[in-house]
Amino acid sequence: MTWPVAPGVVRGERIATSKVVMPATLHLAGGRVMRVSHIDDVGGARAAEVLDAKNLIVMPGLVDTHVHVNEPGRTEWEGFASATRAAAAGGITTLIDMPLNSVPATTKASALEKKRRSAEKQCRVDVGFLGGVVPGNVNELPQLWADGVFGFKCFLVPSGVNEFRNVSVSDLQHTMPMLSQLNAPLLVHAELPGPIEAAAADLREQDPRAYATYLSSRPATAEYEAVQLMVSFARRHSVRVHIVHVSASEVIPLLRDAKADRVSITAETCPHYLAISAEQIPAGATEFKCAPPIRGSANRESLWHALQEGVLDFVVSDHSPCPPAMKKRESGDFFAAWGGVASLELGFPVVWTETRARSLPFEHAVRWMCEAPARLVGLHRNKGRLATGYQADFALLNPLELFEVNPNALHQRHPTTPYAGRTLRGRVHATYLRGQLVYADGDTVGSPTGRLLKREGAA
Ligand SMILES: [Zn+2]
Repeated sequence: MTWPVAPGVVRGERIATSKVVMPATLHLAGGRVMRVSHIDDVGGARAAEVLDAKNLIVMPGLVDTHVHVNEPGRTEWEGFASATRAAAAGGITTLIDMPLNSVPATTKASALEKKRRSAEKQCRVDVGFLGGVVPGNVNELPQLWADGVFGFKCFLVPSGVNEFRNVSVSDLQHTMPMLSQLNAPLLVHAELPGPIEAAAADLREQDPRAYATYLSSRPATAEYEAVQLMVSFARRHSVRVHIVHVSASEVIPLLRDAKADRVSITAETCPHYLAISAEQIPAGATEFKCAPPIRGSANRESLWHALQEGVLDFVVSDHSPCPPAMKKRESGDFFAAWGGVASLELGFPVVWTETRARSLPFEHAVRWMCEAPARLVGLHRNKGRLATGYQADFALLNPLELFEVNPNALHQRHPTTPYAGRTLRGRVHATYLRGQLVYADGDTVGSPTGRLLKREGAA
């Protein structure tokens, strides 16, 4: 297929607009969708300006609000060039970078400025930033917010890197009034140290190469108690609390009840929790290590039900790469290995494969990975849907096409992935950002045109 670089209209039998997949034509101008019409109405467009999607679905570009880019400071782990290349290859047109693993961490305005400078001219998709809440930086938050971060992230357990310390209950008590005043969302890594420390005492004699040993080291109670704590904070302060990467199904009733009480709380899960179960993870396979951990198959199915019910709001990658040596694959020691799953560009195919296996419609996967995450960061009036007035960010994919994951063909910096050799459905053929072709058939196109985004309302 030949891809027009900047089509005036996009016509297809299957356009994933907001709620349905239907035949339609999108009329584009100035990087936006100006009008959605009947499929046969291509206006006055010349043939060369028409992108005919044929058998492919046209879907909104994915909005991934949980990506660890790691630049500056740990660019050898991943960087803006490689992360946004992978994003484009996966149909992701907007990513929001986490405030940790880069050095400096994004915990004050000068660090945000450094990050923006290092990202400049490198990004193939749009990139926004989160700020960090760490002990003692409450007074830095207003400036970060004014400078355009989309929200703040904190950890309740050690984060894995020394320069981004976790917060205590008393740190949160100091920070919540400020977040409330700013009306900024707080994204929380919700595991508490107590249950993890208690579990460690029982594991000293266990095999560190067995996945079951690692799984027991991060018990569901750590997540349960953390979500309980955050629900109580969200009740007391009017702060928008968002729980990142829910893994334990035990927290679902807490979230359901809080939402029923109109507590301002949302939650996400990730492709790996929805597609993989602990029973499938071989000994020493540290590419599967992440925190909180991938749990058993019954737990996985509960996450699916929570997603369908709307108790879990959306699905984002938590792409968290590192150099292969840090995965300690030779020793296979789950405790020595870096925790993080890296597979940014596979997110949609992984989720769609599993969605289809459960006889759920394509539109669900689109809502979970485009519109709903855009809402968390206030981008939902511009991104995450194909409708009049929205930015013309979209991907074309064949929802039935099967492909086998070849780690060396991934566009991320390092080929580590837990999906190696797995057969997935739904290959992305091309990605457009603001109406411009940025990826086609395995390669990025042109020079980087991604923008560095600021929160709506920031200076
Ligand atoms: Zn993360």
